[in-house]
Amino acid sequence: MENKKELRGWLNDFGLSHPLVIGGPCSAETEEQVLKIAHELKDTDATVLRAGIWKPRTRPGNFEGVGALGLKWLKRAKEETGMLISTEVANSNHVDLALEHDVDILWIGARTTVSPFIVQEIADALKGTDKIVLVKNPVNPDLPLWLGAIERLYSADIQKLGAIHRGFSTYEKTRYRNNPNWQIPIELQNRFPDLPLICDPSHIAGRRDIIFDICQTALDLNFDGLMVETHYDPDNAWSDAKQQITPSTLIQMMVDLKIRKSTDTEADYRNALNTLRTQIDVLDHQLIETLGRRMKIADGIGELKRDKNVAILQSRRWNEILGKMILEGEENNLSEEFVLKVFKAIHQESINHQKKIINA
Ligand code: PEP
Ligand code: MN
Repeated sequence: MENKKELRGWLNDFGLSHPLVIGGPCSAETEEQVLKIAHELKDTDATVLRAGIWKPRTRPGNFEGVGALGLKWLKRAKEETGMLISTEVANSNHVDLALEHDVDILWIGARTTVSPFIVQEIADALKGTDKIVLVKNPVNPDLPLWLGAIERLYSADIQKLGAIHRGFSTYEKTRYRNNPNWQIPIELQNRFPDLPLICDPSHIAGRRDIIFDICQTALDLNFDGLMVETHYDPDNAWSDAKQQITPSTLIQMMVDLKIRKSTDTEADYRNALNTLRTQIDVLDHQLIETLGRRMKIADGIGELKRDKNVAILQSRRWNEILGKMILEGEENNLSEEFVLKVFKAIHQESINHQKKIINA
C-alpha cells in the first residue's frame, strides 16, 4: 500500500474544525445506558458514538458484552441523535451483523490485529464495503503487523481506512495500562501521512487522571482524532471503569486541549515545528529512561565487583565498547567526536555510580 491521498477523503468529508471525536462507553450495558450516553454526547464535540458489544476480555468470567442485541440499541441511538455509530468486530459473523444494522464505523481490536488469519477473514467479509474501518494497533509493539492488517483491508477494496493507536502491552508495570511507544505511530504517520490516525487515550492510560495529557501529546503529534471511553457513571461501568470519563469531562477537555490544526501558512509552519518538537520530546524522554536503566545495570556490576573486590575501571572492556559505538555511530550518521564525548560522559557517570556502591 503506497500513501494515497484518497485515504483522507472520508475524514475530510466530515468537514470538522476540530479533531474527530469518538465517544461512548467501553461496553453497551443496557438500552437505557446506551441512549442516555448518546444523548449526553450529542452536545459534545463527539460526532461518533462507540460501544463494544462483543468484548474481548483477557480472562474469562468477566462481562463479555451483550452481543448482537446491542446493535439494535446503537441503531436507535443513531436514529434519535443523528450521531454515527461504531463498534468492534472480531470475526466475519460480527461483520455481517454490524453491516445488517448499518453500523457506520467498524474497528478491529488490538487482540484481533495480531492475527493475520482473522484479519483476512474480516477483510473478506467486508470486501468492497463503503463503511469506515479503523484498525487498532496490535497489543505487541510490532509496526509491520499493524501495517499488515491495514494492507489486508486495503487489498479487499476498503478505501475508508484509519488507524487507532491504543498503546502496547508490557510485562513490567508502568504508569500506563498500555505503553504509548509514540515512535511507532510516528513511524506509521511518516510512512502514510494521509492515513487518518486516531488516539485512544483510554486504553493507553487505564486511568482517568492522565487522559488529558495523552490527548494533548497526540494532538501535538498531529493525530486526526480521539476515541475516548465515556460513561455517565464511570465508576459503575461494567468494563474498564477506571478509565472512563463523563460526557461533561469530555466537553471540558475539548475546551482545554490546544488544538493545533489550522490552515494558514504561518499556522502550518507552527504545526509542523510543533510536531517535530514533540517527536524530539518523546525521544529525549526515552534517552533519559534508557540512561537510567543503563546506570541501574552499572550499579549491579558495582555490587559484583565489590563482592569480588575487583577494580572498577576495566580499560580493555571500555575500549571495546568505544570502538563498537564509534562504528555504530558512523552507521547512524553521528561523528566520532560526538560519540566519544557522549560515551565518555556516560562512562564517567557509570564509574560514579559504581564508586558510590563500593564505598557505601
Ligand atoms: C475497546 O475499545 O474497548 C477495546 C477492547 O480496546 P482494545 O482492542 O484497544 O483493547
Ligand atoms: Mn475498553
